[in-house]
Amino acid sequence: MASPHQLKAVAQSCPEYIYVGNVRNGLSALLNESTDVRCDTCIHWEDGRCNINIYDNILTSLDQT
Ligand code: SF4
Repeated sequence: MASPHQLKAVAQSCPEYIYVGNVRNGLSALLNESTDVRCDTCIHWEDGRCNINIYDNILTSLDQT
């Protein structure tokens, strides 16, 4: 299970991150400029996992620092 810290670290290193609010709730995205960049605010995050399957790759590359 991904920790909140991992969700944030991965999303901040992810080239595919797209804030979910831009699609599902454009108004709140405009009102809230300090977007919390985390996998669970990404359009690719579904049912507790990355639906394009790059989460694990990014997490692994982070671990190799
Ligand atoms: S859910 Fe997937 S695409 Fe979105 S930021 Fe996380 S790893 Fe990247």
